[in-house]
Amino acid sequence: MKIFCIGRNYAAHAKEMNSAVPDKPMVFMKPSTALLKPGAEFYYPDFATNIHYECEVVLKICKNGRHIQRQFASNYFQEISLGLDLTERSIQKQCKDKGHPWEIAKSWDHSAPIGKFVSKEEFTSMDSITFELEQNGKTVQSGNTRDLIFDFETLIVYISKLFTLQNGDLIYTGTPEGVGPINKNDNLIAKLGGTEVLNLNIK
Ligand code: ZN
Repeated sequence: MKIFCIGRNYAAHAKEMNSAVPDKPMVFMKPSTALLKPGAEFYYPDFATNIHYECEVVLKICKNGRHIQRQFASNYFQEISLGLDLTERSIQKQCKDKGHPWEIAKSWDHSAPIGKFVSKEEFTSMDSITFELEQNGKTVQSGNTRDLIFDFETLIVYISKLFTLQNGDLIYTGTPEGVGPINKNDNLIAKLGGTEVLNLNIK
């Protein structure tokens, strides 16, 4: 199982990071060991000092495919959820400054908490899904998939040209603005279309 993540897929988030908006999807990966399943607690790792949350809509790939054509792309996922692309922001900055790969900032164990999946049939359209993240009861991120720079179908077409998509793979589709630090004893709740799908305690 592979985890794909998309960087800078909401213009307002690219702006808050002082990053340019990309002209094609910016893809990176996390290993399967990055996944933190629903209900598990998150233990703040020793190496980290500045972990940020990034709340993202996640697609679960439901069949194998490569070179997927746009008109078939929506057949490759049936369920969606929210996940957190946890990022050690200080290490990421060092990686960016040196032009180094950023796996050590983004792809460590349990850097990808995932929520419960729901059928996409529950939503009238993939282009107007609202989602939000609450930190200790306060809303810190709120997004709408209409603001995606590259929509779900575009991501599936692009990724499948380079990597075979396999049943069970996940695509974290990018975070809206409002990223910020997590701290020990935080409670994070992510809501998809108003429904809680992820509830994470930081230990
Ligand atoms: Zn992200």
